[in-house]
Amino acid sequence: MKGLQLLAASCAAVLVCATGTAAGAAQPSLDSIRVAVVKDDPQVTLQIFGRFRMFALQTGHPVQEGPRLQSVAVRGVPQGLALGEQVLPLFGVRIEPARDAAINVNGRRLRGALEIVRQKDLTLLVINHVALEDYLRGVVSKEAPDYWPSEALKAIAIAARTYAIYQRFTKASDPYDVSGNVMSQDYGGRASEKLTTTRAVQATAGLVVLYGQQMFPTFYHSTCGGMTEHARVMGSYDLPPLRGGVSCTLCAASPFFSWQRRLSKADVAWALHQSPYGSLGPIQSIQVTQRTASGRAQEIAVTGALRTVRLTGYDFRALFGFDQIRSPLFTIVPLADSFILEGHGWGHGVGLCQWGAAELARRGFSATEILSFYYPHVNVLSLRELSGKSINVIGGTP
Ligand SMILES: [Zn+2]
Repeated sequence: MKGLQLLAASCAAVLVCATGTAAGAAQPSLDSIRVAVVKDDPQVTLQIFGRFRMFALQTGHPVQEGPRLQSVAVRGVPQGLALGEQVLPLFGVRIEPARDAAINVNGRRLRGALEIVRQKDLTLLVINHVALEDYLRGVVSKEAPDYWPSEALKAIAIAARTYAIYQRFTKASDPYDVSGNVMSQDYGGRASEKLTTTRAVQATAGLVVLYGQQMFPTFYHSTCGGMTEHARVMGSYDLPPLRGGVSCTLCAASPFFSWQRRLSKADVAWALHQSPYGSLGPIQSIQVTQRTASGRAQEIAVTGALRTVRLTGYDFRALFGFDQIRSPLFTIVPLADSFILEGHGWGHGVGLCQWGAAELARRGFSATEILSFYYPHVNVLSLRELSGKSINVIGGTP
């Protein structure tokens, strides 16, 4: 994709363009992606099934090679990196497996190459350099059940590919493009791959979603619970396909379409006491004081005997855990000693609703139609068609 150019010109004033050719930044290759699979851990377990070569990260000098690597603990030490008993006077290594070999990190089997970097505090950053299409095989299988209809899996594959490429452009100067967890895209590596999700990736190879000439982060989520959300909750994104407001009860079959969560007053007091917000004294009320146009909690006031704190919907969910309060789309029913949250959906609600996509596919809609439903006014194009053409990568704070 050498011809693909990023131009800073012609982006709307509210959008910040990614640095591109104008700034002289290197054009990232779209054939591969850098996935942080471990961040800030003091130790990882490494094993290599098959022939490998290991190089010093900074100089590229060969360090060792072998027909396999037995399971070994890798740690950051003051002198460099320790592989079991062996200390390498290096801040980082790159491991390249032979074609048919696989690297196993903390029990997760990965495709591609691996970089292990010792950070200043001696913790490790582990980055998987993997072919983009191989990465997607390990993402779609984690993001969607493999028994879903193929057009839904294809729509999710195209959204996941676009999201990954968007990250690749906007994170070019960072050490990695995406994290291998649910805050970015869930990534299970080779171990998680399934036949049907791999087929969906292969059938859509190279296809991405664009709005005119603009590439944007194709956010998606499990279950919208009734209506999709504007992407401004994710950052300063404002583009017709990301403005939400798509009415969707197609996800009614989702186990997360409706949910309830009880928070005792003691739970709330303790969670705040443990957090940077500090103690409020005995909790008196929780109220949603602002909602977004889609009805999601934007600001929540928690009042204790001592004072009131106001949290964003995101911070409120973070306080108790995103798997505990599944979405910001809830109402609060106060009881004597607790609050009942009556909620809908799972996730932030921006962009494509996965359970809704599954239902649309069941009703006979194609992957392109599903994508156009959740990201209005977009086109599905192949990277090959775009080669040599200019596209703008919209900015925003992810
Ligand atoms: Zn939905």
